[in-house]
Amino acid sequence: MALATNLGFPRIGPKRELKKAVESYWAGRINREELMNTAAEIRQGNWKLQQESGLDYVPCGDFSYYDHMLDTIAMAGAVPERYGWSGGDVDLETYFAMARGIQSKGKDGLDAPAMEMTKWFDTNYHYIVPEFSSKTKFKLSSTKVIDEFKEAASLGIKARPVLVGPVTFLLLGKAHADDVKPPALLDDLLEVYVEVLKLLREAGAEWVQLDEPCLVLDLTKEARAAYRTAYEKLTKAVPGLKILLATYFDELRENMKLAFSLPVAAVHLDLVRAPQQLDAALKTIPRKMALSVGVVDGRNVWKTEFDKVINTVHTAADVLGNERVMVAPSCSMLHSPVDLKAEKKMDGEIKQWLAFATQKVSEIAVITKAVNKGEAAVAEELKANREACANRKTSRKIHNDATKKRSAAVTDAMMNRKSPFAARRKVQQEALQLPAFPTTTIGSFPQTPEIRAIRADFKSGKKSLDEYNAAMKKEIEYAIRFQEEIGIDVLVHGEAERTDMVEYFGERLNGFVFTTFGWVQSYGSRCVRPPIIFGDVFREKPMTVEWAIYAQSLTKLPVKGMLTGPVTILQWSFVRDDQPRSETCRQIGLAIRDEVVDLEAAGIQVIQIDEPAIREGLPLRKDRWNEYLEWAVNCFRLSASGVRDETQIHTHMCYSEFNDMIEAIGRMDADVISMETSRSQMELLQAFRDYKYPNEIGPGVYDIHSPRVPSEAEMEALLRKACEVISADQLWVNPDCGLKTRRWEEVKPSLQRMVSAAKKLRAKG
Ligand code: GLN
Ligand code: ZN
Repeated sequence: MALATNLGFPRIGPKRELKKAVESYWAGRINREELMNTAAEIRQGNWKLQQESGLDYVPCGDFSYYDHMLDTIAMAGAVPERYGWSGGDVDLETYFAMARGIQSKGKDGLDAPAMEMTKWFDTNYHYIVPEFSSKTKFKLSSTKVIDEFKEAASLGIKARPVLVGPVTFLLLGKAHADDVKPPALLDDLLEVYVEVLKLLREAGAEWVQLDEPCLVLDLTKEARAAYRTAYEKLTKAVPGLKILLATYFDELRENMKLAFSLPVAAVHLDLVRAPQQLDAALKTIPRKMALSVGVVDGRNVWKTEFDKVINTVHTAADVLGNERVMVAPSCSMLHSPVDLKAEKKMDGEIKQWLAFATQKVSEIAVITKAVNKGEAAVAEELKANREACANRKTSRKIHNDATKKRSAAVTDAMMNRKSPFAARRKVQQEALQLPAFPTTTIGSFPQTPEIRAIRADFKSGKKSLDEYNAAMKKEIEYAIRFQEEIGIDVLVHGEAERTDMVEYFGERLNGFVFTTFGWVQSYGSRCVRPPIIFGDVFREKPMTVEWAIYAQSLTKLPVKGMLTGPVTILQWSFVRDDQPRSETCRQIGLAIRDEVVDLEAAGIQVIQIDEPAIREGLPLRKDRWNEYLEWAVNCFRLSASGVRDETQIHTHMCYSEFNDMIEAIGRMDADVISMETSRSQMELLQAFRDYKYPNEIGPGVYDIHSPRVPSEAEMEALLRKACEVISADQLWVNPDCGLKTRRWEEVKPSLQRMVSAAKKLRAKG
């Protein structure tokens, strides 16, 4: 019998109950016990739901108060010294202190910033980065996974505990420069894992799932050796407990032999991202080992095509026998919204194409049943699934011939500005007459409680469209006057009308649909609700032009038109899986291009197309970077190149690594790029110098993530530093990113000082 399994279920609760409880706890509104009760309710609800849906094993240990890497840090007692932890069990206070930083009062009060956070592989989930040093001494300091296993058992639920695997845990951590390399810590760490596995076995666990997604990356020799050491030691030390080695997010490739040669009881493969690896796997897998086939997409929202997937599972079962097959999602469902049933307002036709975590669990059960008992046993489910899938393929909602034609007819010329940068620069200088070191901002101004209230009132019908528009105009005017007053050179309208830079455009483009409760965890208690791109994308009418015209009508100075770029819109959405991402991106590129052209026609001389997410789309394997960068850069260029030479195109990026993709940034050919650099003290500019970046650059001179108001001298010093690396006539002066999370009390003095710093540089030359 093939087994129906899951690798992980969303832990936020169907209505973000965990977020609310955790935040109430932080605010002191509920106590520890109340928080723990909510957590237990979520866990138990998830288990029951999965068991009742027909899973043979449900995961436990996949729950987390904040993050699963942080749970592993706690388990291993890898608490950095600055949190004042003195051993024993890692308590909730220390746990949250690592996640959020701590400033406690009293004479031995702690003052320690949070641990670093970064993206979990190529998802939009962020994990806490473990810190290692030569002083790191691992010791079992949290029995969370064992407690949860027992909790499930007490409810009569057979759970398969999940842990981040020891090698992935070490590889994702960072060691202090002069200190040890993580693999050196392996032996010590394995002691903790051995202890945990023994306790799990004692508690009655039959299986344990160890997540080792690092196996899909380019690995060093040391890392590969670490895998062998780790898994040989674990199986030897804890006989009788079966290990499922879970890999996901990509194919194993050259690491496949390694994975299958480890003494584990089963290996999990992501067959959604990398279906092609099944054949090789079936040839490589040793006798007796089981295979977990990840056939239901754990990180997207589409209904699984049963016919296709049942076939895949049969292919595996024909070689291995049913009893060596586990049916599973491609990866943990952490990245998927919880329950489609909660979507009462969604268009019914579109809804039938979708499956969220709750539905995916049922899908796994149905597929497994079909494989074990024959298709007749699930005839009804298959019929409904076939109908939904057939409808999706042909629906008029999805397919728009005009868009398809237009996208197929994109030419190279459409992706090139009319003249090269040097020529454009000349006419732009004449048209704009900007001073040296021109000042600007990234787009948004503070989203005040008043702005949010007006938006909410408009949405609920308490305020009319006219009232709403009038309020937004007032905000725009306020922003324009303020910028004029302090002497900014290229103004922005402030983005008061936008809740979110992707949502705003998604709501105005065809081919997008939004959910009411489709939340997924982004980090800790923060959840996002990505739009779903279900069909061909096109723009029916201008999206931002009226606001831009209004803003420009208030001033003689140039006001930047502000748009979100095609790659960022793609990256921060759930994307249709029935055509390549590059094609969807190109359609968005064309829609943004229309907007750019309309802005120009309306008299807007400077247009910014934000691409903060372009780097996030990089494939996990380096040898596929070029292919991605090629289409991503082309889509940006397509969106930007419909305008005359006089029109100045800006782009903006905010992440901290440019070195490894500087050429691609160059190929984007934006007239001006602004980006985050202040925290690295301008060091990132080195890459631009080495590459001889020809266009103009605005390296951020202050960190907008902090409420701190920087001094003029600080910003001046940073600019001087920038001048040492980049020619002064290429430089712009701006903050690191948009200001929407800040308050006017911070923004006003900061920008005033920024302008003074720029003026100093102009004067001193
Ligand atoms: N224009 C956007 C803003 O200022 C850019 C945000 C971003 O880079 N994430 O808010
Ligand atoms: Zn930014």
